[in-house]
Amino acid sequence: MGLLAEQARVELALRLLARRARISIVHQETGVSRNRLRTLYRELHGHPAPCGQLPALGCAAILTRRQQLHASLLARLYARLVGDALPARLDIQALLAAHDLYLELAGEAPALDFNGAWAVARDLRVGASRLLFCPRCQVRYLVSENSGAPASCPLCALYARREVGRRSLGRGSDASPPCHGTATSDPPRLIR
Ligand SMILES: [Zn+2]
Repeated sequence: MGLLAEQARVELALRLLARRARISIVHQETGVSRNRLRTLYRELHGHPAPCGQLPALGCAAILTRRQQLHASLLARLYARLVGDALPARLDIQALLAAHDLYLELAGEAPALDFNGAWAVARDLRVGASRLLFCPRCQVRYLVSENSGAPASCPLCALYARREVGRRSLGRGSDASPPCHGTATSDPPRLIR
């Protein structure tokens, strides 16, 4: 391997390690030896890299609607960058860019760290999960047979849950005026 190629893969490894990517993931994506990666991780973060297996299938870790919504956002951003015909090999540069965008949009409460994002992209690549279109919300969402969340739109589910909560509060409070507005059970339509 030429010097420039070697420099490029070490730089990629450093970018991944800076996000606390697992050593196994960084080794798989860059080919840099695990021992060297552990040394780099310790120098970057001041403590050893955590041990353990690669994350379980990303969608298997999705247990709540909120997690499903965040994974859907990450998956949509990634698919937009690489194209809906997902590449046979995970596009690590596109995933880094998608994760940057995801963190911007998720604000102070992101549900997916880079390892979770990598697992979601891997699941898409191997066909363990897929993006479906919700005609009510006009957005695409992630479903997986391995997921703990039902295979339906998380936005619709969260909206319906919120409406149920609001109706319960209305019934439980004498101070609440009766609602004669034009509220509808349809979720707000979002721009894709
Ligand atoms: Zn929906």
